[in-house]
Amino acid sequence: MNGARLEDVIARVWGYTSLRPLQREAMEAVVGGRDSVLVLPTGGGKSLCFQAPALVRPGLAVVVSPLISLMKDQVDTLTGNGVAAGLFNSSLTGAEKNAVVAGLREGRYRLLYVSPERLVGEGGEGFLSLLASCGVSFVAVDEAHCISQWGHDFRPEYRQLARLRHFLPGVSLHAFTATATAQVRRDIATQLGLREPLELVGAFDRPNLLYRVLPRAVLKRQILDVLARHRREAGIVYCTSRREVDALAAWLSSEGIPARPYHAGLTDSERSAHQQAFLSEHIDVIVATVAFGMGIDRSNVRFVVHAGAPRSVEHYQQEAGRAGRDGLEAECLLIYSSADFMRWRVMLESSGELSDASRTLLQQMERYAAGVGCRHRHLAEYFGDRYETTGCGACDYCLGELEPADTPVTLARQILSCVARVGQRFGATHVASVLRGHASDQVVSWGHERRSTFGLLPRASVAELRGYIQQLLGLGLLRMTDDAYSALALTPKGLTLLRDEHSCPGLTLARQRAPRRDAPRAVSRAEAASWDGVDRDLFERLREVRLGEARQRGVPPYVIFHDATLREMARVRPTTLDALLSVKGVGARKASDLGEAFLAVIRTHTT
Ligand code: ADP
Ligand code: ZN
Repeated sequence: MNGARLEDVIARVWGYTSLRPLQREAMEAVVGGRDSVLVLPTGGGKSLCFQAPALVRPGLAVVVSPLISLMKDQVDTLTGNGVAAGLFNSSLTGAEKNAVVAGLREGRYRLLYVSPERLVGEGGEGFLSLLASCGVSFVAVDEAHCISQWGHDFRPEYRQLARLRHFLPGVSLHAFTATATAQVRRDIATQLGLREPLELVGAFDRPNLLYRVLPRAVLKRQILDVLARHRREAGIVYCTSRREVDALAAWLSSEGIPARPYHAGLTDSERSAHQQAFLSEHIDVIVATVAFGMGIDRSNVRFVVHAGAPRSVEHYQQEAGRAGRDGLEAECLLIYSSADFMRWRVMLESSGELSDASRTLLQQMERYAAGVGCRHRHLAEYFGDRYETTGCGACDYCLGELEPADTPVTLARQILSCVARVGQRFGATHVASVLRGHASDQVVSWGHERRSTFGLLPRASVAELRGYIQQLLGLGLLRMTDDAYSALALTPKGLTLLRDEHSCPGLTLARQRAPRRDAPRAVSRAEAASWDGVDRDLFERLREVRLGEARQRGVPPYVIFHDATLREMARVRPTTLDALLSVKGVGARKASDLGEAFLAVIRTHTT
């Protein structure tokens, strides 16, 4: 009975006719009042799992979220769909707060979004008591990994959410996150005091993302190439320092690409103005520091470029994951150099954060960057998922963009032999210098310019050699020593290859290279499928209509309709209200409020 009602509500309000993986299970837990933890990747559709049950269960649903801008988007979207939703956070004026409190007393809302500070900070108890008197049906804790020190974004105020249980006894608690490690999940359950929670963990892979990695060459050229692939589309460029952010944003603007900087060194009002410009499609490119990107979620981000490597694969996944949240194709490009990792080591050391754990995380990041193999597989397996697909069709490796070395066995043996000749006591930089025949001070001071492997690979660049070394580490032919020096050493498998060149059949090593400018642009399967049958001109016209409607209403365009919905309109080309209602993402309220504006354009375009 509840199931049928849920489906009804979802079709009518959101215009979705099918559910994504785990959505049904997650919603049944919420409707049935069983504590739960749902882990789905970004864009997996977590919000629906608490929003739809809120309309089915009697009473008020409370959503705790740390992201004030996302909160506003969600409330605007819900309101646009005809759902009575409100929010309560530090961005409200006194009068607005009073209005919300009055609304709560009158039972006006089905959903209330609150920031954790409002529940646990000063006056938190009063607010919790107020909620307790409002007949709360359940509490959804979004971004629940913030409660765990093992997550990538620990927020101490989340710890105090344990009080929810005390103030709202008998109310079920449901945690939502995109961070999947088992440790974080356990932490969430313990900290929130969940009772025998149902744990639902989705597949981690994001098939709509196209992953690429390039060694840093001429960075500006490399960035312009990406931008050329994504004209008029939204993107984020991540840099490691504020200075770099400011410089790149200014340079892009001078190149005629309006871009704004975003980092912790800006004032609150500057930051919020830049964020607003990005969300409302006044500008399409934002340049941000890796440490500071939580507020810039726009669902139709089509590319994320890292102009330097982040400090862990977890960070990379999180940041790159801001692309393609609407499920449509998007490109994630990592531009890195080995210097990035040294810079992180120095930075972590000076802030006292360099530990064995952080060193390992950095090494794993470098392994991803230098890896030859399917990137989707690498990421999925890194996060403990099995990955069954061969040839993902959405990464530089599977698209054939890496350049395989002609004689990989010889190359591997040259590198292994150099590691052995320097006594297995040096890192990748030193080994690369020796192989290239670069008589650096360190090389000379150890007398390594006299070793037979000195200058064995004079034409290879440092980046290339470091890349091969990472690949050999990944293949288990080399290892890092456990001592403080993190030197390269041979594994038994590596020793065997030195003795017997046939011991490693099928060995491949590869070089990353920029796609040739004149080469046709590689298109992932996800991209091809999402454009299949879409009238692109019509899609652009519909975007303009959406922008107009959004400006009129003062909301970001994707709050009106997602890109996926516009593309389907441009594929199906409905000319009647009924036909429009069958487009995924068009609910009853939006059809009646906005339908005519979009239909009019479709009709004139089609005739
Ligand atoms: P998450 O919170 O997991 O990052 P969202 O809740 O923002 O993901 O959902 C991502 C996108 O998927 C949104 O555009 C949402 O409207 C859409 N979506 C969610 N569930 C469905 C569904 N069952 N059918 C179609 N689209 C959906
Ligand atoms: Zn692949």
